[in-house]
Amino acid sequence: MSTDFLLTEEEQIFKKDIQAFFVENLEPLAAKIENEQGWNAIKACVGLVGKKGYLQDGLKPDGLVRQTLVHECASYTNYAFESTIATSLSCALPLDRHGMDTVKDTYLDKLINGQAIGAIAITEPNVGSDASGMETRITIDEKAGTCTINGFKRYISNAGVADLYIIYGITDNNVEPQKGMSAVIVPANTGGMSIPRTYNFMGRHGSVVGEVMLDNVTVPLENMLGAVNEGFRIMLGMFNFERILLGGSGLGVARRALEIALDHVQKRESFNQKLGSKQLIWDKIAQMRTRIDAAELITYRAARRYDQGVSGKHLMQDAAMAKMMATETAVFCANQTVQILGGDGLTREYGMAEQLYRDARAMPIVGGTNEMMAYLIAKSDLPEIELNL
Ligand SMILES: Cc1cc2nc3c(=O)[nH]c(=O)nc-3n(C[C@H](O)[C@H](O)[C@H](O)COP(=O)(O)OP(=O)(O)OC[C@H]3O[C@@H](n4cnc5c(N)ncnc54)[C@H](O)[C@@H]3O)c2cc1C
Repeated sequence: MSTDFLLTEEEQIFKKDIQAFFVENLEPLAAKIENEQGWNAIKACVGLVGKKGYLQDGLKPDGLVRQTLVHECASYTNYAFESTIATSLSCALPLDRHGMDTVKDTYLDKLINGQAIGAIAITEPNVGSDASGMETRITIDEKAGTCTINGFKRYISNAGVADLYIIYGITDNNVEPQKGMSAVIVPANTGGMSIPRTYNFMGRHGSVVGEVMLDNVTVPLENMLGAVNEGFRIMLGMFNFERILLGGSGLGVARRALEIALDHVQKRESFNQKLGSKQLIWDKIAQMRTRIDAAELITYRAARRYDQGVSGKHLMQDAAMAKMMATETAVFCANQTVQILGGDGLTREYGMAEQLYRDARAMPIVGGTNEMMAYLIAKSDLPEIELNL
């Protein structure tokens, strides 16, 4: 296995331990999460994982390989759960790096101990891949020491169940959005913030994704992350981190799909022989295994570079490749597994194949679409050419 070459002995032991932890603690809840939209089960497990210390490595300067392993193993068991902790940590990271001590003291420990849930709000009805059209406005009142937010966000993971939100908005209309954007921490109970609706997605059952309305939401100026107008840079740093974790999510789902396929082809008979003896099946298995190993190499390499101190635009290509490769591998493997299982692959009764297929489909869209990843990857190789988006 490529893992032996990529991970230190200590990391390999850590991976085995967390895999066992999730099998023991998350697997028994997985059916409830999937079939009953079991947010409470997710929340209970966030508490357990936090208590165990599994949400802490990602914030350490050299802890992203270990954190990525946590996400890979969580996603192997249940992607909805994993997406919840990935979002929460993607909220914790900018708070840790750019938050004022007073705000950090209130929230950071709770987030990484699993006692609080975080959310990040960038996307809006008219803003998806292109964040430059952001319509949310943040008005600063220096005298009062406050900032006031007006806007509307959609597709926000953990909306309505989060304890705090990082809201991105424009603070300076007179410059390009990249130079006039800021990021503000808004606690869940702040007046003027509401959750008009939550969505009913084809996959990720149990995780909560919704809209966030911000109607004259006023918070102290100390809730601003970094300096005023520094939001875009903060967002890019967060994206590198989130996309490497998404590499882990993709790997977990892809590995699970391959295991289900391998198990099935060794049991199922067709034309008086094991399905696993057929050449066309061997090709599917070979494609899955090769892509998983390639995704693993690229994802662990990106996490390792982060741990070695590579950051910002120097990490963007690695992070985008990890996200694109691993999430496309997840979709590919889930699809192949459904095909290999035939009718069994389509039923909810047989096992997880159909759930993996539905869950994986979100991955090339969330955290920046894979089309956007392709632009970021190619841009690093074509620095002189102006890209026409
Ligand atoms: C389950 C889920 C959870 C999410 N969680 C969060 C969250 O916590 N916080 C948050 O802020 N957002 C969140 N999002 C939003 C997510 O980041 C966006 O959906 C994503 O960035 C794409 O934006 P969009 O949906 O508006 O699609 P669009 O930007 O409208 O894109 C539609 C399609 O067009 C393609 N496209 C767009 N521009 C180009 C171009 N120039 N060239 C080629 N193709 C192009 C895209 O790749 C995509 O395939 C979540 C979304 C989902 C589905």
